[in-house]
Amino acid sequence: MDDMSQASNLGLSDAGLLKTGAYIDGKWVEAVSGETFTVDNPVNGDTLATLAYCGADETKRAVDAANAAQPAWAAKTPKERAKHLRDLFNVMMANQADLARILTLEQGKPLAESMGEIAYGANYIEWFAEEAKRIYGEVMTQPSPDKRVVVIRQPVGVAALITPWNFPNAMLTRKIAPALAAGCTVVCKPASETPLSALAIAELCDRAGIPPGVVNVVCGDTRAIGGELTSNPIVKKLSFTGSTQVGKILTEQCVGTLKRLSMELGGNAPFIIFEDGDLDLAVKGVMASKFRNAGQTCVCTNRILVHESVKDAFVEKLLAATNALKVGNGMDEGVDLGPLVSAKARKTVDEFVEDAVSKGAKVHEGPSTPNGDCYSRPLVLTDATRDMRVFSEEIFGPVAPVFTFKTDEEAIQLANDTEFGLASYFYSKDVARCWRIAEALEYGMVGINEGIISNEMAPFGGVKESGQGREGSHHGLDDYLEIKSLTFGGI
Ligand code: NAP
Repeated sequence: MDDMSQASNLGLSDAGLLKTGAYIDGKWVEAVSGETFTVDNPVNGDTLATLAYCGADETKRAVDAANAAQPAWAAKTPKERAKHLRDLFNVMMANQADLARILTLEQGKPLAESMGEIAYGANYIEWFAEEAKRIYGEVMTQPSPDKRVVVIRQPVGVAALITPWNFPNAMLTRKIAPALAAGCTVVCKPASETPLSALAIAELCDRAGIPPGVVNVVCGDTRAIGGELTSNPIVKKLSFTGSTQVGKILTEQCVGTLKRLSMELGGNAPFIIFEDGDLDLAVKGVMASKFRNAGQTCVCTNRILVHESVKDAFVEKLLAATNALKVGNGMDEGVDLGPLVSAKARKTVDEFVEDAVSKGAKVHEGPSTPNGDCYSRPLVLTDATRDMRVFSEEIFGPVAPVFTFKTDEEAIQLANDTEFGLASYFYSKDVARCWRIAEALEYGMVGINEGIISNEMAPFGGVKESGQGREGSHHGLDDYLEIKSLTFGGI
């Protein structure tokens, strides 16, 4: 079936947004081998599209194209690069409804969330269009009076971008936008479960007039593509968002060519409610940070830590809010949670619950789900304890375990007792305590009386085994720029 016939099945108003080839040097190409793979709808397993299954050959061609395009792209004025990014932002927002539809169909999240993700992803493009013009240098004094040092910042070069399935649009725009603003060119490898959103972005790059070779996208043989991207000496930087486990593998693979690395990895977010916290606000924060994307975000609340004196009151409110959720096909009106991305993901969540129950947790089941292998029932676990897997591992599903603590010291100790350090949250009305706790939490991001912490203006990223580097804010450009010092003598 050609792209147009496949697109008509998806109900897109602009059928040209469904792409099934690789995007290399401004052209849509098939795999050299002629092999294909399918992208399926998690609601019912229906095939949405059949895509070119690329490997190392196509990836090498994409890297060569990015390399050839890079000098001219970097030589454009910041204003010219900004204009391209602004045009990309405009076409993305003009096609928001279709992009959201593609996203929901391949990933499962409710359409309203997908609309939100497209706007969130586009905001990074708009932001870095503006930041492209604000790449500053420095002038430094020197120990001897006849010298001065000027520091300039230049693009790293060709960047490889590997992204996960949980935010198929935004995880990629968060990387493409700063890379292009800095003067880098890119080769993208999206997740195999959700590549259609990335291919649609490539089509929009083309429509925005971004020159051939500046943005390339290849999908297919994960290891072969990853192997080429991490070993090819032309690639100067890898920016990866995904699991800590794969992040470590890719880091090792980059050692041979010592690439610059940005790693946005897994989390295990604590959500602490102190005895003076506003319980209604805290429940609102938990609902947003726990159940968004059916619990499949890296900043999702993983462990609720509540002061023992307010536990019963908090749990009562949490259960009421959880029971009010609606689970179903993300395409249907009023749905809060869609299916998980795959049946395998649902099975993993089931195993977390079984483990917790076998160790004494009490299950409070939330709303029922439609039939389907990928649906996971929202639920709250009380009497959760440290020996349970839900304490130490990333759940990635709509399961909210509740732990209790007695003192601030115990809360901090519990919160920091993990190798992860991405997002954390806490609720208190005491300003002094807010400062103390915020400084003591070993996390890259802290939500204080707030459950939503990510936007293009704030630096996003983790510490410990949650990674290195930051996306968003003016710091987001640093990951794509080298510092060069120019020493002037004879002054
Ligand atoms: P994943 O299994 O690590 O996969 C992420 C990406 O890496 C996918 O494109 C995957 O490709 C690719 N990949 C896997 N093995 C590879 C290899 N050997 N070589 C090259 N590429 C490889 O993670 P996921 O399950 O998709 O995503 C969930 C994880 O991402 C969670 O841990 C979550 O916390 C984390 N995450 C972090 C952030 C952040 O900003 N810190 C944001 C979102 C998600 P295939 O799809 O083809 O396997």
